[in-house]
Amino acid sequence: MNQPEQEVLILGTRGSSGAYAIRDFLHRCGVHFQWIELADDEQARSQAQVTGINDNRLPICIFPDGTRMQHPTVRQITEKLGLFQNPSQSEYDLSIYGAGPAGLSAAVYGASEGLKTVVVERFAVGGQAGTSPRIENYLGFPGGISGAELAERAREQACRFGAEILLLREGIRGEFQPGKGTVYLADGTKIISRACVCATGVEYRRLGLPNEDHFRGAGVYYGAGASEASLCAATDHVFVVGGGNSGAQAALHFSRFAVKVTMVVRDDSLKKSVSQYLVDRIRSTTRIEVLLLTEVTALHGDHTLRAITLKNKLAGNEWMEETNWLFLCLGGVPHTQWAEEIGIVRDEAGYLVTGPDLMKNGHRPGNWHLDRDPYYMETNLPGIFAAGDVRHGSVKRCASAVGEGAMAVTFVHRYVANG
Ligand SMILES: Cc1cc2nc3c(=O)[nH]c(=O)nc-3n(C[C@H](O)[C@H](O)[C@H](O)COP(=O)(O)OP(=O)(O)OC[C@H]3O[C@@H](n4cnc5c(N)ncnc54)[C@H](O)[C@@H]3O)c2cc1C
Repeated sequence: MNQPEQEVLILGTRGSSGAYAIRDFLHRCGVHFQWIELADDEQARSQAQVTGINDNRLPICIFPDGTRMQHPTVRQITEKLGLFQNPSQSEYDLSIYGAGPAGLSAAVYGASEGLKTVVVERFAVGGQAGTSPRIENYLGFPGGISGAELAERAREQACRFGAEILLLREGIRGEFQPGKGTVYLADGTKIISRACVCATGVEYRRLGLPNEDHFRGAGVYYGAGASEASLCAATDHVFVVGGGNSGAQAALHFSRFAVKVTMVVRDDSLKKSVSQYLVDRIRSTTRIEVLLLTEVTALHGDHTLRAITLKNKLAGNEWMEETNWLFLCLGGVPHTQWAEEIGIVRDEAGYLVTGPDLMKNGHRPGNWHLDRDPYYMETNLPGIFAAGDVRHGSVKRCASAVGEGAMAVTFVHRYVANG
């Protein structure tokens, strides 16, 4: 972020979910760090000055100024790095929820066009895109760009224009009157603005296995694991579940580090859901094996994942494979319960319905009181807009999310000027 040259040392053990959360966050924020994996009690004593690898003071973070933190939370690290901010204004023109590509783009356009703009982000900048090891189809980057780098550039651009970005804050509830929206954050902070853009994207779908939470960050990871790939040992066998572009990207990325990568795909072909350039590369990468018509049916381990059970859907046979690495790239679902509570129209899957999609046989939505149709990306509550993956009918691509964020700001201007 503002001080990306800092290098933070993180000392911990393999499979530590606390250490994973820290690595993931720092990676997405573009903060340089070095991960030191402690293999045994002797290393824990000599390198981390703790009693052994089961010492609950691990992981330990050491900052460039010498500060040492024991078992810190991501929030404590964010504060230490000066990345945790409070809102500077009591009211804004535009508040944006979500700092993925759509939210960051709305921030760049909003702030650069003179709107007092704040972005509220639950975790780190970049959203789903921030977890991608390499985005190759985003205009202007012929050699591809890592999602984290793209996000960091966008963050810098938005801040340069004066947007405020509040990390580790989550919007949970809203109250909206014409020209004034109040959004309550999980930590009790209140954000007031004339217009809002919801760019909260989607959340990773889960396998739905009973002990999945237990292994989260300790062998089971959601997304393409950009921060983890280089930590795989050359002898490791990595499993990637999901037959979409994100799964394919993850498999290719891990194949640079691990001895073997297995893609576990429920469908009978990769071609239905993966771009041809990725299918071709997977076929020509000998380290990648693709198991079609297969699913993960059980997870095994102690404090970290040790093995998984796979099942062939056609033959019905099950077998176990040893692994410490299971990456789930299963697509996502929007979390928009808050919207339903305040009467925002959603589709059956929970995506926010906007603009022309709200019109039924030429009629405006029931609650609509203005003498105009909803603007293109406006929900049925005037002044509340949706952009990117969370919007009904969106394309689920980086470039389209960026385009939607920019477009939403155009309509925010119209709303602020004319209602
Ligand atoms: C691994 C992977 C690889 C991909 N690769 C490509 C690719 O190569 N090319 C391509 O075009 N697309 C790719 N995609 C798809 C692309 O990343 C998404 O379409 C894009 O990120 C959607 O952007 P968004 O801003 O709408 O939502 P997201 O990226 O989902 O961002 C939403 C943000 O909102 C935050 N948030 C959620 N709820 C709240 C709340 N209540 N309060 C505050 N913040 C909240 C989240 O933490 C998140 O940061 C990939 C996706 C994945 C997962």
